[in-house]
Amino acid sequence: MASMLQPQIILLKEGTDTSQGKAQLVSNINACTAVADVVRTTLGPRGMDKLIHDDKGNITISNDGATIMKLLDIVHPAAKILVDIAKSQDSEVGDGTTTVVLLAAEFLNEAKPFVEDGVHPQNLIRSYRTASYLAIDRIKQLASSIEGKSLEEKKELLANCAATTLSSKLIGGEKEFFAKMVVDAVIAIGDEDRLNMIGIKKVSGGNMRDSFLVNGVAFKKTFSYAGFEQQPKKFLNPKILILNIELELKSEKENAEIRLSDPSQYQSIVDAEWNIIYDKLDKCVQSGAKVVLSRLAIGDLATQYFADRDIFCAGRVAEEDLQRVAAATGGTVQTSINDVIDEVLGTCECFEEKQVGNERFNIFSGCPSGRTATIVLRGGADQFIEEAERSLHDAIMIVRRALKNSTVVPGGGAIDMEISRYLRDKAREIAGRSQFFINSYAKALEVIPRQLCDNAGFDATDMLNKLRQKHSTAEGAPYGVDINSGGIADSYAKFVWEPAVVKINAINAATEAACLVLSVDETVKNPKSESAQGDAAASAMGGRGRGGAAFRGRGRGMRRR
Ligand code: ADP
Ligand code: MG
Repeated sequence: MASMLQPQIILLKEGTDTSQGKAQLVSNINACTAVADVVRTTLGPRGMDKLIHDDKGNITISNDGATIMKLLDIVHPAAKILVDIAKSQDSEVGDGTTTVVLLAAEFLNEAKPFVEDGVHPQNLIRSYRTASYLAIDRIKQLASSIEGKSLEEKKELLANCAATTLSSKLIGGEKEFFAKMVVDAVIAIGDEDRLNMIGIKKVSGGNMRDSFLVNGVAFKKTFSYAGFEQQPKKFLNPKILILNIELELKSEKENAEIRLSDPSQYQSIVDAEWNIIYDKLDKCVQSGAKVVLSRLAIGDLATQYFADRDIFCAGRVAEEDLQRVAAATGGTVQTSINDVIDEVLGTCECFEEKQVGNERFNIFSGCPSGRTATIVLRGGADQFIEEAERSLHDAIMIVRRALKNSTVVPGGGAIDMEISRYLRDKAREIAGRSQFFINSYAKALEVIPRQLCDNAGFDATDMLNKLRQKHSTAEGAPYGVDINSGGIADSYAKFVWEPAVVKINAINAATEAACLVLSVDETVKNPKSESAQGDAAASAMGGRGRGGAAFRGRGRGMRRR
C-alpha cells in the first residue's frame, strides 16, 4: 500500500489562494453583474446621476459611465475588466460608456446558465465572436451617411447628434443651446487632431445660458503686480509676443556667492542686474508687440515698464492656454528674447480683458488660423459645472466622430433591437448548439432598450413586445423607445441619433470583455499581494458573488466607516 502514496508536490507558496473551475467563472460573472448594476440606472435621457465622495471629501456628481467606474475603486480582478473597457470606450469614442458596461455584463449574464450547465466556455466564446461580426455588419448596413450635404445641413444634423448625447445629462434642459455651441466649436477647430484645442473654462455663478463660445482663446486673468491697472485692456489687431522666460528682477546676490575686494564694486553688480532686465524689456517693446504673454513670471518692474508703454502683459499663463494662444494666433513660443522676428509674433482681430461673472478673462477672438475655440461655462454649484464640462466633452467627441466617420444610426435602443432581430434570424440558419448561444447574444442586446424604459419608468416588457413586433416588419428598423410619450417611435425622425462608431466600438469592446472573463477559469492570488489588495478582494474572490463585495470600502450596500 505504501508504495501507492505519492509524495506531495508543493507548487505554490503557503497561503496562496486559488479558486478554479465553474464556480470561479460564475463568481466572476456575478461580480461583473454587480458592477453593471451600479451604472445601470444612469443610462439614457431619464437616467439618474450618481454622487460619489472619496476619503478626501471630494464630491463628484456624474452620469458618465467612465467617470463613475473610475471613481468606484473596484478591486475585483474580473470586474476590473469592465472598468477598463469603459475607460477605453471613453478615450476611443468618448460616449457609450454606460452602454458598453451594460452590454458586457448582459452577455455574461446570458452565458451564465450555459456555464452552469457545463457548456465549455470556448464554445460560447466562438459563438459570441461570430455574433459580434454579424452585428457589426448589420450596423454598417443600417448606418446612413451625412456626406455630401451642405455645411448648414451638416451643422443641423451634427447638432441633433450632440443634443442626443446631452439629453441624458444634467444640462439636458438646455441641450439645443449647448449642442449648437459644441458644433460651432468643433467646426472651428476643423481638422485639428488635438482635442485640447477646444478649451472649456468654468466660471461658477450666473445662468447656464450665460455660457458662451469664444472663437479663439480665453483664460482667467493671471496673477498680476501693481502697474497692471494702468495697462490698456483692449487692442484691435495687436501683435502678440509669447514667451517662456522670466521677466523679473533676479536678486542674484541671494543665489550666488560673490566676493568683492572693494565695496564700491557692489553697485556695479546691482547695476548689471538692472541692465539685464531692462535690456530684455526693451527688446520686448522693440518687437512691436502690444500683448506680452509668458509661461513664467512677469514681475512688478516689468509690469510697470509695460504699462508706461501701453503694452498689456500676463505672466504665469498655464501651459495649455499658452499653446492654444500660439496655435490660434499663429505665434511661436520664444525661449529667448534676442532676435525676435515678426514671424514669431501672433495676432488676432481683438484682444480684450473682460469681466465674466466675478472673474476677469483675457480673451483673444477672431484668430487667423481658427483651430481653437473656447467654451466659457457658467452655472451654479461647482459640481454642476464639472458635470456640465464632462457632458460637453462627450458631446464634443460625438460631433467629432460623426464629422470624421460621417455615419449615424438610430438611437433610443432602435439599433440594438434591430441587431437583436437580425441575429435571431441568422441563428435559425445555423445548425448546432451555436444557435442557442447566438440567440442569447441577441437577447442580451435588448438590455439597452429595456434599461432605457426602466429608467424612464415605462413598462419594459410591454415596450419590448411592441418593439419586437415593429422590428419584424419591413420598415421597423429605426423604431426605438420614445422617451417623451412612453411609446415607440422612429428614432431617425425624432433625431435620436448616434454615430455608428459608438455602437460598433461598444459591441466590439463588450464582446471582447465578455470573452475575456469567460476564458478565465482559475484565479491565483499569491500571498504577497494580499496585503496590497486588501481583504475585500479576498472575500470577493472567494466566490461570494454579487453585491458590494466587488468594491473597496464604498459602493453599494457597504457602510462607509
Ligand atoms: P452612455 O454613457 O452609454 O452614452 P447615456 O446615458 O448617454 O449612456 O445614454 C445613451 C443611450 O440613451 C443611447 O442608447 C441613446 O440612444 C439613448 N438616448 C439618448 N437620447 C435619447 C432620447 N431622446 N430618446 C431615447 N433614447 C435616447
Ligand atoms: Mg452618452
